Amino acid sequence: MPDTRTLLIIDDCAEDRRIYRRYLLKDSHQSYQILEADSAKDGLALCEEILCDVILLDFCLPDMTGLEILDQLKQERFEPPAPVIMLTGQGDEEVAVQAMKRGVQDYLVKQHLKPDVLQLAVRNVIQQAQLESVLSKTKERQRLIIQQAELLAQTQAALLREQKLNAFKSQIITTVSYEYRTPLTSILAAASTLKQYGDKLDESKQQRFLQIIEQKARHMGKLVDDLLVFHQFELNKAQFKPQPLDLCHFFSELIEEQREKVSNRHQLLYKIIGDHKGFWGDGLLLRQIFVNLMSNAIKYSPDGGNIELHLIGNDSQVIFYIKDQGIGIPIEDQENLFQAFSRGSNVDTIPGTGLGLAIAQACVELHGGDITLESQVGRGTRVTVTLPKRPLI
Ligand code: ATP
Ligand code: MG
Repeated sequence: MPDTRTLLIIDDCAEDRRIYRRYLLKDSHQSYQILEADSAKDGLALCEEILCDVILLDFCLPDMTGLEILDQLKQERFEPPAPVIMLTGQGDEEVAVQAMKRGVQDYLVKQHLKPDVLQLAVRNVIQQAQLESVLSKTKERQRLIIQQAELLAQTQAALLREQKLNAFKSQIITTVSYEYRTPLTSILAAASTLKQYGDKLDESKQQRFLQIIEQKARHMGKLVDDLLVFHQFELNKAQFKPQPLDLCHFFSELIEEQREKVSNRHQLLYKIIGDHKGFWGDGLLLRQIFVNLMSNAIKYSPDGGNIELHLIGNDSQVIFYIKDQGIGIPIEDQENLFQAFSRGSNVDTIPGTGLGLAIAQACVELHGGDITLESQVGRGTRVTVTLPKRPLI
């Protein structure tokens, strides 16, 4: 026979209590230690002292109704709450339904109560409570496992971020020392030539050396700017402030800006199709995307050619791509180009640090968009950006 269970009868009728006790002690499947209380007050006091497995509760007590006792039993001091079987008189079934809604496990009508009915009801309630306790322990264990897994994932992500940052920092040192040395050497050489022989050089030669100094210094400035911008993305500190934006106008201004800079070997073309109304984006980030893609298209088309910007809009998205007829990118290099400091193997002496596409991709991702690249060596490259019209913030 399973362990002895503690059962509390709260009923003001001594005769009823005697009957329940007799019926239950006759149960051959379960043994009970039975406690009795003849008032709500005494019953609640016993519940506070002893952990009961089940309570038989009379619906009608002199000092409190059964429903009031139920409310009291739900309070913290009775944690964990014992399962309750309500005993009602005939015709009180409506109250019993109310009691069930408040969490009573079962109810029995007192009149004509049979021993086997009471025994079975009590055993069922005990079993149900046992199952619930096992279930809640399993759920708690599951919750703990999930919590631990989440914690582990967070720690791993933090570790990975840390590793990436460390790799980024050492890459910065390598890049800066490498990329800075060449222009710095040119600047120093030009400056010392000017210092030593400045007065002996004609005006145009002097201008040429000054131009070299300016150009190389600008290049170094851009390198530092790009590193700082990219570092902001790496630290997840980049600002994203989308606002309504007329993209057609926005791009035509940027194209005009570029037109002033490019040589006449390059033809800039701008084509617009579809509906671009209702677009929201961050102007500063979009500028970064455009400038990086456009400067690549120009830089990697040393022989010139057409550079096209296409803007296509539909109901939910805007798509733009920049297409050139330049040197293209070997297929085996294409996969990694969106990673910082990654460059194609065919760049030869074309200057660059490999940050532009990584910055463009980070800006696109903040908009919830996508960036892809198609390229053929010797034929040209096309970089496509797809952005939702209303980014989620
Ligand atoms: P920077 O940081 O100054 O932009 P970068 O141009 O080398 O340097 P990315 O813009 O990130 O760096 O481009 C990465 C590489 O992808 C380039 O070095 C080049 O090999 C290749 N690439 C990008 N765009 C083009 C293009 N339009 N045509 C050919 N190669 C390209
Ligand atoms: Mg670039």
